[in-house]
Amino acid sequence: MPSVSDLIVCPYCDALHDVAPVEPGARALCRRCGSTLIRNRPSAPLLVSVLSITSLILMTGGVFFPFLSVSSYGMSNESSVFGAALAFQGDLRPLSFAVLLMIVLLPVTRCIALVYTLLPLALGRPPLRHAVRVFRVAERLRPWSMVEVFVIGTAVALVKVGGIASITLGPAFWAFAVMIFTVALADGYINRWSIWSALATRNGS
Ligand SMILES: [Zn+2]
Repeated sequence: MPSVSDLIVCPYCDALHDVAPVEPGARALCRRCGSTLIRNRPSAPLLVSVLSITSLILMTGGVFFPFLSVSSYGMSNESSVFGAALAFQGDLRPLSFAVLLMIVLLPVTRCIALVYTLLPLALGRPPLRHAVRVFRVAERLRPWSMVEVFVIGTAVALVKVGGIASITLGPAFWAFAVMIFTVALADGYINRWSIWSALATRNGS
């Protein structure tokens, strides 16, 4: 009778499999639906760490650099995301808190958690203290990081405003746009099973 840690469930079709060792560079596929269960990519922790650090740098620029400038009838106004969030007054204050939380704080926390968990693994060192708990936080935050929703929402809004004022996108907009790709790429490299088992065998607590 195998123990629970020797079993893996396909996230797409729920088929149950016995875990077998996977060679570096190879993949284990679901027997029923063919989706990837385990991908042993030795460079993945390093790639995810580098992409997360890149995301953090882009986020810093994205928050404080000008996001866009609007000009109409000779008047022009330029704003950063930070400035725009602080501009909400009175009843709209909770909205500024929500904006900063969803598009800045949660993605930043998640990137830091991923670097904290994966960089030591990438460097061949034992996991840092509480690495298991920190990686669990990173996993929980995944659905709540809404950078892409923000960028797409902004783009749609700009198309509508474009008719009445002329809009110039600032460097922060492009920083957010590039961040969609660095975050998505990092997510693509994360193989949960490999990370959990690396954390377990290298004694993270
Ligand atoms: Zn499957």
